[in-house]
Amino acid sequence: MEYLSTRGAAPPLEFEDVLITGLAPDGGLYVPRDWPSLTEADMHAIGGLSYADAASRVVAPFIGDAVDDEALAGMTRRTYAVFDHPDVAPLVEIGEDEWLLELFHGPTLAFKDFALQLLGRLFDHALARRGERVTIVGATSGDTGSAAIHACRGRENLDIFILHPEGRVSDVQRRQMTTVADANVHNIAIRGTFDDCQALVKAMFNDAHFRADMRLSAVNSINWARVMAQIVYYATAAAALRSGAGPVAFSVPTGNFGDVYAGYAAQCMGVPIDQLIVATNRNDILTRAFNEGAYRVSNVAPTMSPSMDIQVSSNFERLLFDLYDRDGSAIVGLMDALADEGGFDLPTERLAPARRLFNAGRVDEEQTLETIAAVYAETGQLIDPHTAVGVAAARRLRRTRDMPMVTLATAHPAKFPDAVERATGRRPDLPPALAGLMEAEERLQVLDRDLGQLQDYIRAHATVSA
Ligand SMILES: *Cc1c(COP(=O)(O)O)cnc(C)c1O
Repeated sequence: MEYLSTRGAAPPLEFEDVLITGLAPDGGLYVPRDWPSLTEADMHAIGGLSYADAASRVVAPFIGDAVDDEALAGMTRRTYAVFDHPDVAPLVEIGEDEWLLELFHGPTLAFKDFALQLLGRLFDHALARRGERVTIVGATSGDTGSAAIHACRGRENLDIFILHPEGRVSDVQRRQMTTVADANVHNIAIRGTFDDCQALVKAMFNDAHFRADMRLSAVNSINWARVMAQIVYYATAAAALRSGAGPVAFSVPTGNFGDVYAGYAAQCMGVPIDQLIVATNRNDILTRAFNEGAYRVSNVAPTMSPSMDIQVSSNFERLLFDLYDRDGSAIVGLMDALADEGGFDLPTERLAPARRLFNAGRVDEEQTLETIAAVYAETGQLIDPHTAVGVAAARRLRRTRDMPMVTLATAHPAKFPDAVERATGRRPDLPPALAGLMEAEERLQVLDRDLGQLQDYIRAHATVSA
């Protein structure tokens, strides 16, 4: 399988290079040249497989010969064995043919584990094959850092350094990172803000010497392999609900457009999906793009669903590429307008095909709390604020009751206990696997907001420099 850059000026690459490269050298995102197909018979077969085996079946054509079938099957089995539910991604009914797809049974209690746990193993496999090592660096305001650390812990061919702003992440979020004891995991608390952390990471990547010496790499949200891994649960959910035959609708709490783009990819492959709801909080650039044809940056407003508090949705570029008939130069024009003028308009004729599949809706803070309370009153089930945004949009925008409506439950309610308690009066418990978190020993280094000091620290602690 070959991959193209959405900006059309970088050479096509095979899977393993796409995995390690992340962002294309022309600034674009990689997408597969063709969509492998899942027939009705494939969908039926997927319904009879374990989640791990369904995963290796769905992703195999994207990976090609970078990993042989047997190794891939072993890899997906080990990946999804760390999830603490036998179904991995269970469906729970909360209304009339209305479902939650629980994606929070992984080690950090959010859906990003589905992709990152596989990504860590794919990286290690590719690096071993090439006899290379890398140093992964990243900045986190809380959640992605812990998912990346849990994905990379104990991997043989990489070190991971995650920067977080000292004192500005929650105790649970910090402990999910700092209690990981593996020697290849390095937590750095920066005396500064999240923006300072991000600026330091960017400065390290811009330092060509340091970048090459340390073989810097990232596992960020634009990596194609993350999208690929997320296609799987759309297929397993559709197969479970309709044996893969009849159509299904999904509502997806959305920030960077990675998760809902995976739903689009599933539909392109043949998974019977008739509606995809892009559910946003009040940071609604995507809702405005789909409904008004205006993709325009505004200020980020903090909400109860912080993982969706974004200014630009980086993965949206992948959908735009298709809406502009895969014309890379058109995408360069749009991205230049975004950088120079803060946005661009989408003509109705470009949006029309997307509007047949997608609906978009914005859910404000009050509706989020009301939805958490309503679902609790109706079913006794606690949902987190991200999931609540999805459920509220699903209930508002559902096109027909003749089709199952599945909302992706992207985080465990115990990750956002304050909002859940405010809405329901009940404080969710941490799952048993995390009960020891508050007592476990922490390991972290506090550093000033100083590039030189940070680089010295990384040089001294990364195995690649030894
Ligand atoms: C990251 C995240 C989202 C948004 O997913 P995107 O792929 O960025 O659209 C939604 N909910 C939770 C809990 C998340 O962590």
